[in-house]
Amino acid sequence: MQDTTILDFEFEAHPNPVSDSDRAAVLANPGFGKVFTDHMAVIKYSADKGWHDAKILPRGPIQVDPATAVLHYAQEIFEGLKAYRLPDGGVSLFRADENARRFRESAERMAMAPLPDALFLNSIRELVRVDQKWIPEIEGGSLYLRPFMFASEVFLGVKPASEYLYMVIASPAGAYFKGGAPSVTLWVSEHYTRAAPGGTGAAKCGGNYAASLVAQKEAIDQGCDQVVFLDAVENRFVEELGGMNVMFVMDDGSIVTPPLGGTILPGITRDSLITLARSQGIEVREERYSTDQWKADAQSGKLREAFACGTAAVLTPIGKVRGRGYEFMIGNGGPGILTERLRGELGGIQRGTAPDPHGWVERLP
Ligand SMILES: *Cc1c(COP(=O)(O)O)cnc(C)c1O
Repeated sequence: MQDTTILDFEFEAHPNPVSDSDRAAVLANPGFGKVFTDHMAVIKYSADKGWHDAKILPRGPIQVDPATAVLHYAQEIFEGLKAYRLPDGGVSLFRADENARRFRESAERMAMAPLPDALFLNSIRELVRVDQKWIPEIEGGSLYLRPFMFASEVFLGVKPASEYLYMVIASPAGAYFKGGAPSVTLWVSEHYTRAAPGGTGAAKCGGNYAASLVAQKEAIDQGCDQVVFLDAVENRFVEELGGMNVMFVMDDGSIVTPPLGGTILPGITRDSLITLARSQGIEVREERYSTDQWKADAQSGKLREAFACGTAAVLTPIGKVRGRGYEFMIGNGGPGILTERLRGELGGIQRGTAPDPHGWVERLP
């Protein structure tokens, strides 16, 4: 059963926050993940005290002992979600309850103390409330929120830690790609896999990323933008990118996407797009899709579009695919029509310019 602890957040204001003019200069072109707001949320956990010491503090470095468990055994998880400025000046979160649930499930997989959903959600709400002037007003702008938690116990023994530090930092983000996303070229990784059955593929943990970087580097060395991983058992079926799920649009208008099942991260963007598409009568099949099929369908024209999806970049069109000894183009290599339409529709819901029939948007008071 889920712990139902509720804590009040103690607030310590930053003694010298970024000035309005400096902040305005940053928000005109924030990029992604490079600049941060004035504050951060912190909650501590210990086996004897449970969750305690919830605070909003001035953002700054933290001290960690060299024997802190996370530095050795990587017991760490994170989340990524965004706060948006609504047309009337209000602020919204998109499906943050889903991030809370996934964070708890990631914690369970990594044998960490699960943070109660209410504490996760309140930490986000409190930080956004305090730092909401950091939400960029530029088109496509948002405040990217990065909750994370790590084993903070000072101990070199190999076991689940008995102390954790949970934190949230916030970073203003521009449109991930300015003026519509350009299509990316994917590299099909042959020797590296991202996740095997029974592994941590469905948990949002830093370790998955650490393991993916060499494959991502190979993709860049091959002149591609991103790596796409195949299943670890047969090395045939498309799983996902290093940090995004993948969808295929067929010539009959249906969508195919690899099924969840432990080796794929259950993306909230993925889930939202499946729901959105089905609500419009588009058939979405969660089924395995092999690289041979992918190649054949791209060449015959049966595959019309493909895109990657995730919170940070939303929808990224896939224009070309390259692997050892082959390369093929999808459609005309540019962004597909349904890809662009779904991107606009999801963005409209998130930004409050379109109705929210699924109750996904939370307006902050
Ligand atoms: C976070 C993540 C995604 C996308 O999830 P969203 O909830 O849509 O942001 C996809 N794959 C991996 C590996 C991820 O870490």
